[in-house]
Amino acid sequence: MLESRSRNNGLMLDIQENVERVRAAIERACLRSGRDPREVLLIAVSKTVDLDRIRLAVDAGVPALGENRVQEAKDKVALLGHPVPWHLVGSLQTNKARDAVRLFDWIQSVDRLELARELDSRARAAGRVVEALLQVNVGEEPQKGGVAPAEMKAVLDAAAALPGLRIRGLMTIPPLGPDAEAARPHFRRLRGLRDAAGLPHLSMGMSGDFEVAIEEGATMVRVGTAIFGPRQRPAPGRAAL
Ligand SMILES: *Cc1c(COP(=O)(O)O)cnc(C)c1O
Repeated sequence: MLESRSRNNGLMLDIQENVERVRAAIERACLRSGRDPREVLLIAVSKTVDLDRIRLAVDAGVPALGENRVQEAKDKVALLGHPVPWHLVGSLQTNKARDAVRLFDWIQSVDRLELARELDSRARAAGRVVEALLQVNVGEEPQKGGVAPAEMKAVLDAAAALPGLRIRGLMTIPPLGPDAEAARPHFRRLRGLRDAAGLPHLSMGMSGDFEVAIEEGATMVRVGTAIFGPRQRPAPGRAAL
């Protein structure tokens, strides 16, 4: 018992320290780029992370949580409620739109008009408005989700007519590169697209590159590993990301 208690304390300190370290890095990146740290929302991405560790992150003050799978979020939201807003950051099948609207405060992965329409109708049926981001495939990688930059305007114009869905900005996962600097041109391009669209939010930057993303204007960073440590190998049948 003693041993398990000290292990828990160790874990608590780890997560608390990690959150503090990430926050300090966010502040430094803001300082370097003349930004106010309050403009940057830290989303702790808790996919594969158990409830106890998620609670510790909330206790350590993370202001938002992120999950990438509806099924996994169902169990977690049922048990944890909404101590802070939940963001969906993973791709969403149209037939799970109803659950997603029920579970998530923000849906960052709107990547096609069909999904936007389905979310709108589910949100209106539930009497709410869903806050959303349009996911953009800024590196134009064929295997990756997100609308192509050239299709963005058409999708945004059509989505603007949907009263149950409010697109508040853009989200991207840039191509995998050798280091954080490799993501910078993609972040910069997304910012240009966001500016042209006249939207407030830019969700970009993960554990390896959130500081660069902040220098390029991110208003939301999605940080998993740097807060919770390396993820366990995913269970069979689950995607690695
Ligand atoms: C897992 C995930 C993250 C967090 O990744 P880390 O490298 O662990 O910080 C961010 N965004 C999305 C879309 C993810 O799936």
